[in-house]
Amino acid sequence: GFNCGIVGLPNVGKSTLFNALTKSGIDAENFPFCTIEPNVGIVPMPDPRLDKLAAIVKPQKVLPTTMEFVDIAGLVAGASKGEGLGNKFLANIRETQAIAHVVRCFDNDNVIHVANEVDPRADIETINLELALADLDTVERAIQRLTKIAKGGDKDAIATKAILDRIQPHLAEGLPLRSVGLDDDEKKQLKSFGFLTLKPTMYIANVNEDGFDDNPYLDVVREIAAEENAVVVPVCNQIEAEIAELDDEERAMFLDEMGMQEPGLDRVIRAGYALLDLQTYFTAGVKEVRAWTVKVGATAPEAAGVIHTDFQKGFIRAEVIGYDDYVELGGEQGAKDAGKWRLEGKEYVVKDGDVIHFRFNV
Ligand code: GDP
Repeated sequence: GFNCGIVGLPNVGKSTLFNALTKSGIDAENFPFCTIEPNVGIVPMPDPRLDKLAAIVKPQKVLPTTMEFVDIAGLVAGASKGEGLGNKFLANIRETQAIAHVVRCFDNDNVIHVANEVDPRADIETINLELALADLDTVERAIQRLTKIAKGGDKDAIATKAILDRIQPHLAEGLPLRSVGLDDDEKKQLKSFGFLTLKPTMYIANVNEDGFDDNPYLDVVREIAAEENAVVVPVCNQIEAEIAELDDEERAMFLDEMGMQEPGLDRVIRAGYALLDLQTYFTAGVKEVRAWTVKVGATAPEAAGVIHTDFQKGFIRAEVIGYDDYVELGGEQGAKDAGKWRLEGKEYVVKDGDVIHFRFNV
């Protein structure tokens, strides 16, 4: 599965966010293959298209696709020195594919701030410094190792070492690698190092209910994100925690009163999805209508492999109907009649919203 780690200083609202995310959650019984640890939440992707498809197909079950959020509590200054729990936090972050960095952008005299004042820039720098220092450690070890190999004339080692030499001072300044200006080729070469500060990152600006506009804290987060090409999602975690406790009807009323189109959590989940360059395709049968996640650019066999590896191994063809055609033409038969039903081969690149039926050999 795809996952996103939630990091941030203590008392910024991480657990509030995590709890809200998991409360909005689906029945874990539907996902028997996932072991769920206390700090891992399986969160359904909000997608109105599922309801549209279900209205046409009238299936027994409707299953959204999901994303995992991992609560990585306790990252504090000094973590990169590897003392005590520091190592464990960094190891947890290493296992995630993207990072949601929660930043406190609210005043509340009852909630103590670890550094005694709300200062988003200092908070962000504290966390980024720990992650950068962890990466610096990785870089310095690699440079040592590659120096020997490069002396033997190994071209790959020479090329990789050249990149590491270039990024080393940046990390030593405590800056994240996402702002160093690496091109796609260089990123590919560095992939196996699993650098923390190269993971796609979004800042979750945790604001008060009235803190979405004219909030200098939020402006600071936006400024920093712009420098780093990172995304900002402003959200009031406290409200989200309250919304997550409501049943569907109460929730609709509450959102209406607040003038909100959807829970702010939906924006967080979607931002995480976009961060990982993910898209959705659907399977639509009378038993179930279901959403599945694939990387943008995935081919039809790769998409089949998300359902089952046998589907990928034995892939023959994919029957594909674009989402808009499927809905406008009232389903599979309508799409067939209108010539919008396609048979695609193994080179086919899946598009967001495709409704697919795979043909395969067993
Ligand atoms: P964590 O240590 O980062 O996991 O922080 P928590 O989620 O435990 O939140 C710390 C405290 O801040 C709790 O008392 C929350 O109720 C409070 N809190 C979280 N989000 C908000 C918010 O948006 N506004 C206000 N005023 N308080 C919040």
